[in-house]
Amino acid sequence: MSDQHDETDRETGEDFLDGNVLGGELSAVFVRDLTGAYGRCGGCGHDGPVPAVRVWTAGPGIVARCQGCDHVLLRLVQTDTHLMLDASGFAEIRWPLE
Ligand SMILES: [Zn+2]
Repeated sequence: MSDQHDETDRETGEDFLDGNVLGGELSAVFVRDLTGAYGRCGGCGHDGPVPAVRVWTAGPGIVARCQGCDHVLLRLVQTDTHLMLDASGFAEIRWPLE
């Protein structure tokens, strides 16, 4: 987080930080086990435990779909040079805190 830079939006005058701050803040999320999370579908709003989603692994990556409406919730693809995650199909993913 030491590499973050403060700036001010020229139009709104609001202060903001650059994306370096996400590394520290999101490290609490990306170490968590997704099987302990709950997710809300961005397509139909179905809400439930992530292990209940339907997952296809035969393609070039992994695709998870909503069991309520078949909306694509998540794609994970690994190439020779990158690991790509698209979780935009979830409206929300949340982990209960012990
Ligand atoms: Zn759905």
